[in-house]
Amino acid sequence: MIMSDFLKRIRDTLLPPRCIYCKEYVERVGVCDNCWREIKWISEPKCKICGQPMEDESCKYCIRDDNFFDRAVSVMVYEGLARHLILKFKDGEATLYAPIFAQWLNRIIQDFLREVDFLVPVPISLKRRFKRKYNQTELLCIELQKLSNLHYVPEILKKSKETAMQKSLNKERRRINLRKSFSVNEKISVKDKVILLIDDVITTGATANACAELLKKAGASKVYVATVARVILKNAISNS
Ligand SMILES: [Zn+2]
Ligand SMILES: [Zn+2]
Repeated sequence: MIMSDFLKRIRDTLLPPRCIYCKEYVERVGVCDNCWREIKWISEPKCKICGQPMEDESCKYCIRDDNFFDRAVSVMVYEGLARHLILKFKDGEATLYAPIFAQWLNRIIQDFLREVDFLVPVPISLKRRFKRKYNQTELLCIELQKLSNLHYVPEILKKSKETAMQKSLNKERRRINLRKSFSVNEKISVKDKVILLIDDVITTGATANACAELLKKAGASKVYVATVARVILKNAISNS
């Protein structure tokens, strides 16, 4: 696994770069012009808090009192080609995709970058990590750290157990369940710290919110969330 990634890197440095999606030759590592045009990049107008793209000024998704993160931003809409990229990223191509996704993330965090004390990945459970051999979000953070010089602290949050299928539970119960599946490492003080949480996809925001709630209760002053993709909420079906 490690060796083949290493060899891939050598190959990618020696040969001209190709589009990470369609493998067309490109000048710089990333996606080709055609693929670029197919991706729905998230820009204004969008909600200043949850980052949801929207037509008018009022956001119906985050006017609620259980929002614990201060602001969420995402690079692209999770559909079509963007969705394929994320699925490939999760499924074995993470080392190729992480540096590119990190460049995109680095662009959208510039507004608040200077405030951030700790760069923290949304954790996955040990069981899942063992199966995948890595947490792809950690790889994103490692690449983002190189570009942004943020202080990367992967061990602040832990996912202690797998979140069970939640569809049968009501909203409040789901929220409690999700929150209980994460914990904050008490050995690292987050008091008065500004945290930037990184994840690959944000759907309803429930996972990011559960992490943000724990971090705020442990004393964090602000929690920002940045993800590579986001589901447009009228299409949202899962609980992550
Ligand atoms: Zn392409
Ligand atoms: Zn909103």
